[in-house]
Amino acid sequence: NSFKDIGLGEILENNIKLAGILQPTPVQMYSTSIVKNGRDLMACAQTGSGKTAAFLIPILSNLFENGPPQELKDGSFMAHKVSPLVLILAPTRELASQIFEMTQHLCYRSCVRPYVVYGGSNIDKCIDQLSLGVEILVATPGRLIDLLNRGEVNLQMVKYLVLDEADRMLDMGFEKDIRTIVTDYKMASPGKRQTLMFSATFPKPIQLLAKEFMEDYIFLTV
Ligand code: AMP
Repeated sequence: NSFKDIGLGEILENNIKLAGILQPTPVQMYSTSIVKNGRDLMACAQTGSGKTAAFLIPILSNLFENGPPQELKDGSFMAHKVSPLVLILAPTRELASQIFEMTQHLCYRSCVRPYVVYGGSNIDKCIDQLSLGVEILVATPGRLIDLLNRGEVNLQMVKYLVLDEADRMLDMGFEKDIRTIVTDYKMASPGKRQTLMFSATFPKPIQLLAKEFMEDYIFLTV
């Protein structure tokens, strides 16, 4: 019942410790094993359950372990365009920032570069920063659509898609934006990417999105 038993690799195990995470919470325990087994996940989990680390830990473990995807032959993670391997969508800039901060902690001393984009920040600065390369992009839906429309981000390399606080994103009116992001911008199909959805509640609209975005997912409630 510890992260050490799961075999996450030395860098990540160390960063988890540095982030003050000692004992995995239930959602972290289940999510890690489900995601490392290559499955899609619909998790009903509240804030405070440790859900952020629950999706970051197995994804980072896989990224650190496997290195750059086969498609990138030059040995770097970076494709010719700004092509994140991981896309994490969150409803608010506060939540996106929190996720980004945790991602930075967990990526310490790795070659994986996280970045966060949200509405209200300077978009030119954001574009400059993105052009340096990013493997993990945390974003609010509106700002991401803006960047996609400008051709500044390419989603073809996304291997892991995370929708955090999906119910709140729908409450805030992001349903159309989320569908646009996931289906209109050539993201890998559900069978070729892993999708993780986190939501405090599981009403009909979330059930429909889960069915649309995932294949044969595992339903977890903690
Ligand atoms: P979250 O549910 O992701 O919003 O996390 C809530 C808080 O719990 C954050 O401040 C995390 O840093 C912290 N946390 C996450 N996982 C653990 C853990 N296994 N042990 C102790 N604290 C944790």
